[in-house]
Amino acid sequence: MSGAVPDLRGARVLVVGMARSGVAAAELAVRQGARVTCTDLRPDAPVVAGTEPVYGTHRREDFVGADLIVVSPGVPARQPDLQAAIAAGVEVVGELAFAAAHLTAPILAVSGTNGKSTTTHLLGQLCERAGLRTFTGGNIGDPLSLAAGRDLEMCVVEVSSYQMELPGGAGPRIPGFRPRAAAILNLTPDHLERHGTMDSYGAHKCRMFARMGPEDHAILPCDDARLIRLGSLLPGRRLWLGGSPGVNVLPDRLVVDGVHDPGDVLLDGFDLPGSHNRENLACAVLLALCGGLWRHDLLVAGIVGLPHRMERVAVRRGVTWIDDSKATNVEAALAAVRGIGSASWVLLGGRGKEGAAYEALAEPLRRVRGVVCFGEAGPRIADVLEAFGLAPVRAPSLDAAVALLENAAIEGDTVLLSPACASFDAFTDFEHRGRHFRALVQGLPT
Ligand code: ADP
Repeated sequence: MSGAVPDLRGARVLVVGMARSGVAAAELAVRQGARVTCTDLRPDAPVVAGTEPVYGTHRREDFVGADLIVVSPGVPARQPDLQAAIAAGVEVVGELAFAAAHLTAPILAVSGTNGKSTTTHLLGQLCERAGLRTFTGGNIGDPLSLAAGRDLEMCVVEVSSYQMELPGGAGPRIPGFRPRAAAILNLTPDHLERHGTMDSYGAHKCRMFARMGPEDHAILPCDDARLIRLGSLLPGRRLWLGGSPGVNVLPDRLVVDGVHDPGDVLLDGFDLPGSHNRENLACAVLLALCGGLWRHDLLVAGIVGLPHRMERVAVRRGVTWIDDSKATNVEAALAAVRGIGSASWVLLGGRGKEGAAYEALAEPLRRVRGVVCFGEAGPRIADVLEAFGLAPVRAPSLDAAVALLENAAIEGDTVLLSPACASFDAFTDFEHRGRHFRALVQGLPT
């Protein structure tokens, strides 16, 4: 960000919500000389040295009496004490804006329903491989507040819609979150319990553009009418994913225009599975170029993905096993299924999300060798697919599904765990499910 670092000496700063980003923000505020109070409804929230903890309750006077409130993404904007503070004219900002006010390196931001973490990770690697001192974090990994005070040349930030609920920026101290370039990869139904409608969900994501200047870049998918509409009144130069000016994905290259170094970026040596990963890379490349990198800086070969996102975990007797346990919704699984070859088996199941439209999977699944439905939602998914004329195999558990495919899959096949469901029927989270899958597969005979 440009401009002077805010002077917080002696200011009464209240940090609301003491998960990782709240803790990092509180530490930063203490370093900046503020008088910091931390509050969380959990009685056992972590205590930050040099702050006054108010845990197990919220005190209204802490909110309305503050000079500045920093809100963690876990705290909804409708929280009554926050609303009272806003009504009383207190400056309220999200953790991203608070952190960004203390940074000098430019920010490149990534949002979207699916693919955020992967794209952020790819972009972070592109910047690092180009030799830039890079922070990669935000909604994934380290909170942005941990970047403050470090000698950085680029900040690559994953942004969730929750982080944009109270972006801040109208008050006297904190200028607001202003990325040099920001992209929304896609927008499909998710988090509607908090945002209410798709328009509200999309509008939160578009707030990343709200503080941009004419030289900053706002990147959107060229085929998403809702995002185009919601973003149309916001500043920032438009670039398009899948359009021009912007980036287009061809089988062997990306074609980029509308940036300072237009032309081709070859995909030689980029081997993350799935066509959606080429789209994620395209977005990362476009952001990197907006950040001032040159095409010849961008080392694409050998770049790696994240665990549990289209991760090749083993090859056993010529069968490739892929862990995409992070695909906890239908759209994520859809992208994975569309992107794989026809000699594939797909594992679907887990804890179903309300209203999940499994029927969307039927058409692309016609191409593959077979489908195995497992876990709590397995029977429901199998029923839906059968109604579309498919013949899924039913298995009670992930273990049983893997055992079944050990026999059914033949040399040259791929087995993809991209479950389209949450994991909580049998696992603590998607990572636990992915680790379990890896262990099962690695236990198979070589
Ligand atoms: P997020 O951080 O947005 O949850 P991840 O990168 O962790 O995204 O990927 C989550 C899941 O979404 C993965 O399992 C993957 O199969 C799917 N996915 C990744 N990229 C895309 C994309 N561009 N479009 C749709 N789905 C995607």
